[in-house]
Amino acid sequence: MATRKRKAEVEETVVACEHCRYFVPKDGRNECRRNPPTVAVDFEDGGVTSMFPLVEAGEWCGCWSPRLNS
Ligand code: SF4
Repeated sequence: MATRKRKAEVEETVVACEHCRYFVPKDGRNECRRNPPTVAVDFEDGGVTSMFPLVEAGEWCGCWSPRLNS
C-alpha cells in the first residue's frame, strides 16, 4: 500500500532588518551590528562618542543575512 509523502512546511523568509542576524534591539532602539561602531558627534555640546547605525525594523540593505539557528 502506497503512502503519501507530506510536503515540508516552508517558512517564509522576510527580508527586513528585524529578521536579520545583525539586528539588535537595545534600550528602545534598534542597532545594526553588521559593522563596527562609528564616531558620532553631538553638535550641541561638542561631545564625541561611538555608536552602531540605528535602523527601523522594516528596513533592509544588501548585507541582509538570515538569523542563525542557535
Ligand atoms: S538588513 Fe542591513 S541594515 Fe538591516 S540589520 Fe541587516 S545588515 Fe543591518
